[in-house]
Order: sequence, then structure tokens, then C-alpha cells
Amino acid sequence: MTSHNQQLFDESQKIIPGGVNSPVRAFKSVGGTPLFFKRGKGACVWDADDKRYIDYVNSWGPMIVGHCHPEVVKAVQDAAAEGLGFGAPTASELEIAELLCKILPSLEMVRLVSSGTEATMTAIRLARGFTGRSRILKFEGCYHGHSDGLLVKAGSGALTFGQPSSSGVPAEIAALTTVLDYNDAAGLEKAFAEYGDEIAALIVEPVAGNMNLILPRREFLDAMRKLCTKHGAVLILDEVMSGFRVGLQGAHGYFGIKPDLITLGKVMGGGLPAAAFGGRRDIMQCLAPLGAVYQAGTLSGNPVAVAAGLTTLKLVQAPGFYERLTKIAKDMTEGIAASAKKHGIPFSSQSIGSMFGLYFSEKVPTSYAEVMACDKEAFNRFFHAMLAEGVYLAPSAFEAGFVSAAHSDADIAATIAAADKVFAAWK
Ligand SMILES: *Cc1c(COP(=O)(O)O)cnc(C)c1O
Repeated sequence: MTSHNQQLFDESQKIIPGGVNSPVRAFKSVGGTPLFFKRGKGACVWDADDKRYIDYVNSWGPMIVGHCHPEVVKAVQDAAAEGLGFGAPTASELEIAELLCKILPSLEMVRLVSSGTEATMTAIRLARGFTGRSRILKFEGCYHGHSDGLLVKAGSGALTFGQPSSSGVPAEIAALTTVLDYNDAAGLEKAFAEYGDEIAALIVEPVAGNMNLILPRREFLDAMRKLCTKHGAVLILDEVMSGFRVGLQGAHGYFGIKPDLITLGKVMGGGLPAAAFGGRRDIMQCLAPLGAVYQAGTLSGNPVAVAAGLTTLKLVQAPGFYERLTKIAKDMTEGIAASAKKHGIPFSSQSIGSMFGLYFSEKVPTSYAEVMACDKEAFNRFFHAMLAEGVYLAPSAFEAGFVSAAHSDADIAATIAAADKVFAAWK
């Protein structure tokens, strides 16, 4: 009997490019047939063949209170019953804007959009409008959505000019982006020394979660803040993933670094399409209709999405919420690493808040090059073996994992036991 997953994938490939609506879902990196999910509840998801998995992808981050949290579902149903959208201001937009500014003191003003890609794209336009400069700095391995100027890799030879990392991105646009090494404070100093007066913005994931999990070095964070201030560049901390994940105040709150602008998404939409960018009032006032930088969105601040986000943001403020997530992420990653060690497998792990990284390398990587040097084949084997044991990890060695408040201690123990079984049979 062919599986329903396989049938759905076969049919999807006929009319959806690659059978998926976002590339990493296709399992290209790990091989095999992607799972089609039909249901989620708490820490678990069920695929089209009714197999149950403990879920550590959590919709790539948003599901921090677990799937189908009753309060989130109720808020969404209530909002939907009042109207799916108006394309006009609503009181709930004001409520979530006030809540975001209250939780995150770095936000003096905020604007809602529908995706992280929109948030970062507009933050960059805003930084350019504010400074009157064109060049942006980003770091290899950081992902900031799929707008042209951000799908750029380091140019060979010339330090300054980036090259498109996707077909369809004009070289002329990529050339305005300079790509540097994450965690390399000296490289950053050098770039600012050479062309600091051209730089509109530096954009960075303050905790990198799109090249597995890489933590920032203190001197790297400090150099960013110092150099942006000195050269009049806008520091954009992309917290689309790390916001409300690393802790209530995101990575910038955790590390105590002051951004000029931040971008938010994922958790703040509670599973529906809501995202935001905001920060310094003098910069945000450059935005239309107040200022000359244009940005708009038919579905921006959609009341149903805002209801999901607002309710999620209320739940994450519960006392002890992040303490427990931090503990279970640590317990799980340490448990898996201990099992690997027992079986003599080169492996390491780390976590911060509710985000975690698993690495098939002796040492926890601290740079893009070190992540790339991890044993990808070993990860792919591990991924499929864990899947067979009913544990759903991100289908790529280069993605961070997430725990949710719905993961029970028993789920964590079951996950460690699954890994132990997989490693015992490793050879
Ligand atoms: C997911 C992500 C984005 C893009 O968000 P979308 O909602 O997928 O457009 C941008 N930046 C970071 C750090 C992300 O993790």
C-alpha cells in the first residue's frame, strides 16, 4: 500500500513546483518523501498516514504554546466571527502594538505587516531612506527572508560587493550588499573602516537560527553597536525567529544590546501571518504616511492574525514560562548529547531559551564555516531514524529546533530515549 504522504506528494508535484510552497519542506536536504500533516495538538502532529510525531519544528517557530492551544483557537474563532478583515484600522492592532512596545522597550513605534520577509525588506528601505545611503551589511548563513537584496552571498575576491545567491536577483542589486562572517568582530571593524560612510544598515540575526543554531560572541555584538553608532548606520536586529523565543525580550533583551530597528514575526503571529518592524521614533517617522518611505499591505494587521498573536503574547508572559522552556530545551539537548557520547559518536548540542542546536561534530560550532563542516550525512541518517521513532526534527542539518510549552517532561524523556535507541544501533 502506498502511503497517503507519497500519494499527496506525487499529486502535488504535478501542479506545485517541487510539490511544496516553501523549499525546505521538500526534504531535499535529508532525502525521502516530505510528510503532509493533517492535525496538530499540543506537542504533537499527525501526518497523512495518521502517524504521530513529537514536533520540534513547531511550524518553524511560531507554535511556542503548542498546537491548537484552546485560548488561541478561541480568540481566532471569536475574531473571525466579527469579520475576517476590513483593510481599515481596528482596536486590536492598537492593542498588539501597545503590548509589543510594553514588552520590548526598544520599540518606540511599530508597524504591522504579514511576513518576516516584508518586515526585513521594509526595515532596510527605511534605513536607506533615513540615512540617504545604499549599502547594507549582512552575514553569511543569516537568513532574512527572500527579498532581492538579502539573497546574496559573499563575492569572491572583492570584499565589498556581494553576489546573488538566487537566480533572478540582479547582480547590480546584490552588489549593494556586503556579506561578512558571523561572529567576526575584526572583519566588521575592517568593513566599517573602509566604507563606513556608505553603510545604511547592518542586518543580523542576534542569535542565528538559520544555519543550525549559532550563538553570538559578546565582542561581536558590542562591535556591531559601537560601529553602527560611530558611522551613523542603522542597526537592524532581525528577531523574526529569536523574538519571544530566546526569552520574553528576544535576543537583544537577553544580551542587553540596543537596536535601532528590530523585525518580528513567527511567534508574534501565533501561527497566523503577522509580523512587525519597529524601533527608534525618529527613524519610524520616516515611514508613509508620516514620511517619504513607502510601505503598505492589504492584509497588514489582519484582525484574525492579530487575535492569534495577541493571545500567544499574553500566554508567554505567564510567570516561569521561559524558565521552563529553557530547562526542557537544555535537558533534552544534554540528554541526547550524553547518549551520543556513551555510544562514541562525535556529537554536540546547545540551547538558548526555547531554541536548540544538534551538531554532528565534537565541538559546538561558532561560525558558518564550522557549521558547514558538520557531518551532514550523519544528521540525515539521524533525522530519518528519529522520524521512524516518532520524533519530527527540522528536515535539514542547518536549522535550529524549537521546544514549546506543550512539551511535557515525558515528551522530552521519550525523545532522549528515541535518540538513545537510534545511537545504540548506529555503527
Ligand atoms: C523566518 C525568518 C524570516 C522570514 O520570515 P517569513 O515570515 O518566512 O517571510 C526572516 N528572518 C528570520 C531571522 C527568519 O527566521
